[in-house]
Amino acid sequence: MNNEFPKVKHKVIDGHLHIEAWTNSNGENFIGCFDEYKRNMGISALNLAALPSGYGADVTSNIMCAVYKLVDETTYAHGGLLYDQYPLGESLPEGMDFVTQLNELMEIGFDGVKMLEGKPTLNKKVGKNLLHKEYDKFFAEAEKQGTHILFHVNDPKEFWDKDKVSQDTIDHGWFYGDGTFATHEELYRQAYAILEKHPKLCVTFAHFFFKSETPEDLVELFEKYPNVAVDLTPGWEMYISFYENKEYYKNFFTKYSKRIELGTDSSFPSKTESFMWLMDRVYRYVSCDDVVKAFDDRYESGLNLPQNAIEDIVCGNFERRVGKAPKKINKDALVAYHNKYKHLMTEGDIQRVDELFEKYL
Ligand SMILES: [Zn+2]
Repeated sequence: MNNEFPKVKHKVIDGHLHIEAWTNSNGENFIGCFDEYKRNMGISALNLAALPSGYGADVTSNIMCAVYKLVDETTYAHGGLLYDQYPLGESLPEGMDFVTQLNELMEIGFDGVKMLEGKPTLNKKVGKNLLHKEYDKFFAEAEKQGTHILFHVNDPKEFWDKDKVSQDTIDHGWFYGDGTFATHEELYRQAYAILEKHPKLCVTFAHFFFKSETPEDLVELFEKYPNVAVDLTPGWEMYISFYENKEYYKNFFTKYSKRIELGTDSSFPSKTESFMWLMDRVYRYVSCDDVVKAFDDRYESGLNLPQNAIEDIVCGNFERRVGKAPKKINKDALVAYHNKYKHLMTEGDIQRVDELFEKYL
């Protein structure tokens, strides 16, 4: 049994990771961590998914991702939508509607849009459902432009069930069964309604769309909507389903290899080793049959998929759906964006952005 983190043997893009803070406990910023992760694992490119609305990092989250694209030009990034207030009103202030924001992100050189708005916590904070007219205009435009959306909708079903939810989940603030959150079924209803209305939307639902126990739902979606995919970011619970239904999932991953993307959901300031640990588990699950320490402290062997399926999942789908190469950053557009949204930033963040611009722009 091999518990090391060998380098990957394919061209691999980590399609989904985050920056949640400026610095780690040693006072180092995200740049060194990402560089080290890529180098140690032999990964070709990262896709940073900004979270401007989920964790209080506001507009700086978008800017940090854009700056890393300047530092490492192999990097992709998905920007997030900004809110002038919570809850969201009936409409956004002039010049800040989501279509304008989409166009601003594209002009800066983002490669897509990250949405956390379907996670129960942010959904509650926003206070409007995903069918709100402002979102609807945004989805219509994204569909028209073919913009890729990395979309977190829902969470594991047990997070609504007080008898099944773990203490750790409760401590994260992710117990949703107290009646103040949208239900699991309601969030799916909204996501399905978006697809019904915008059937060509190029969307990747994070965390296997929380469908590892009902993969037949994904089959239905894949057959109906040509541009829908899911990613393999853990959610450990989904891997437990994968391990327990190995033959089924080997066939599923092979048949739908064009609809599955690799990602870790790693998040700075976690340590580089934890990025590597996650990549190792996800990558080796699809690419080989080594017996390795897997999620939930089990030892499991991977699916050892056919080579073309592996290539689709670890890189090809991302390149086809998002772009063969990352977009270049338009520095003027980035500075204009920073100036426009400064009123949503703290003094400290404005200063940190100025320092980054000074160094990397
Ligand atoms: Zn994520």
